[in-house]
Amino acid sequence: MPLEIEPRETAERLRSADPPVLVDIREDWELETGRIADSEHVPMSDLGTRLDRYRQQPVVLYCAHGNRSLRLARALSEAGFEDVLSMAGGITAWAEEGLPVDVPGELDDAQRVRYSRHVLIPEIGVAGQQQLLNANVLVVGAGGLGSPAALYLGAAGVGRLGIVDDDLVDESNLQRQVLHSIAALGEPKVESAERRVRELNPDVEVVSYRDRLTSENVDRILDEGWEVIVDGADNFPTRYLLNDASVWHGIPVVHGSIFRFEGQATVFKAKEGPCYRCLFPQPPPPELAPSCAEGGVLGVLPGVIGSIQGAEALKLVLGIGEPLIGRLLLYDALAATFDEVAVRRDPNCPVCGDSPTVTEYVDYVEFCAGTH
Ligand SMILES: [Zn+2]
Repeated sequence: MPLEIEPRETAERLRSADPPVLVDIREDWELETGRIADSEHVPMSDLGTRLDRYRQQPVVLYCAHGNRSLRLARALSEAGFEDVLSMAGGITAWAEEGLPVDVPGELDDAQRVRYSRHVLIPEIGVAGQQQLLNANVLVVGAGGLGSPAALYLGAAGVGRLGIVDDDLVDESNLQRQVLHSIAALGEPKVESAERRVRELNPDVEVVSYRDRLTSENVDRILDEGWEVIVDGADNFPTRYLLNDASVWHGIPVVHGSIFRFEGQATVFKAKEGPCYRCLFPQPPPPELAPSCAEGGVLGVLPGVIGSIQGAEALKLVLGIGEPLIGRLLLYDALAATFDEVAVRRDPNCPVCGDSPTVTEYVDYVEFCAGTH
């Protein structure tokens, strides 16, 4: 049985009703020259652990010139794989036939070095890094949660990073808000944050909003192209306002909150899971919901939760992994445990439910003061 298939025939079979799996077996560093769309990339060095997936289905392997893929196809065929072929001449012959090749966007020399540890990950690679460089993420709050989130998103090369905060840096912030330093005491947090992120990564355009989110400014801010929001707000009115606005704007929110030794994180994405109001239709009475300023917080706790928020934001941008949609992750620093609770969309939710009753902004301060 012949073990090779020509590029044109491969292309035809890929368009058929029962297409084979096309597997790119080249190493990571070879992908810069381009890939064939819809191929799976499994470098030959990783193939051993993932082979069984391909035992039951027709597979076409390709490499640069068709030599390695032919040797591998022969070995697999001898090992009992029934329908494994090698694409003759590899991607070089494919391109010479005029068949389409996806060439990833270019990274410059400095970016190649800076992001090398991302590029090495198959799920990210050059194409994923380009996605990050083109991404727009808004961080609400430059405090305990916003600090690690903004630092890691900036370091990761998120190309446009918005930061909303109306507060000034205070001495009592430095115990946990690692964006800020002694030199920034008394300065607006957005200015301190912007300077720190710029020092960290010149690829990032920081958009500062020295504002508290309000019903008056939230539409204008959310209309500025943000695809993911990290909620690092420290108060309930902002949290409810941001929830309603993000549902109406269709922007997913990576939520985090902290108290003393306990923190939680989840992702609110309308239609795919619950929103904040599905979980908490009513704000807690103010006396039962002390802020960090009133109740205290372990300094490192926002570092843990804000970093989880950063990871979720990167996953949403890249479209990889299992986001925390419909899952509330609970962290207890004293017990050193992580727990997970399934959370569901409430069809009767006043904002994201089937017949919403709240369709415009309310007075959130009043709503949270319990006088509504
Ligand atoms: Zn809801």
